[in-house]
Amino acid sequence: MTHNTVDRRTLLRATGLVAGGLLLDAGAAHGLTPSSAPATSPPSPDEAWAKLREGNRRWASGTAIRPHQDLARRAGTAQNQEPYAVVVSCIDSRVPPEIVFDTGIGDLLSVRSAAQTIDPLVSGAIEYGPAELDTPLIVVLGHQRCGAVAAAAHALHEDTRLPGDLHHIVEALRPAYRRASGNTDKMIRINTADVVAKLKADKLFVPRIARKQLKIVGCYYSLDTGQVTRVV
Ligand SMILES: [Zn+2]
Repeated sequence: MTHNTVDRRTLLRATGLVAGGLLLDAGAAHGLTPSSAPATSPPSPDEAWAKLREGNRRWASGTAIRPHQDLARRAGTAQNQEPYAVVVSCIDSRVPPEIVFDTGIGDLLSVRSAAQTIDPLVSGAIEYGPAELDTPLIVVLGHQRCGAVAAAAHALHEDTRLPGDLHHIVEALRPAYRRASGNTDKMIRINTADVVAKLKADKLFVPRIARKQLKIVGCYYSLDTGQVTRVV
């Protein structure tokens, strides 16, 4: 993202050109596609959340339809993307967002890190959705039996330092550890709520939330049932 991009978008807003919901796709925002690309109204935050809930219901009940995974969808999104949600989830191999929400190509921006912890690089990736693509929803997704949370809890309990950059993950989880009273599942939920709180305070998100253009929710995924439930 360049200053030029920000300035251009700010100017467009100021002149009301995007007030009607004109969606600037990634190409348009970077001057790669004509500005005459068809305007599309993004779904509301609640509509986006309803789509994800319905997709997860299908996944959990064994009736997934695996939408948007054919050649037509690939061709239809090759020049443009309009994802309706950013999912911030763990790197865990059992929690791929596109599968647990039964979505496909072009539906989600997936941002993944250990125990969905965030730092400036991760926050920047999350900001890209709402700020550049008008994505209306951010879902922070913790999950049952999170190995990263369990390892961090163990390291903090034993007061040991994990090697390499792993200790950064431990430090990111220290606030949740302090409030979880030794309960790892509680720590997973507290950490998810903490990440939601941090994102709600993000300077780029505060005005969007106030205008009801953006919603940020925290959820918990059960490895046992496949169900996603709201934490905050
Ligand atoms: Zn995990």
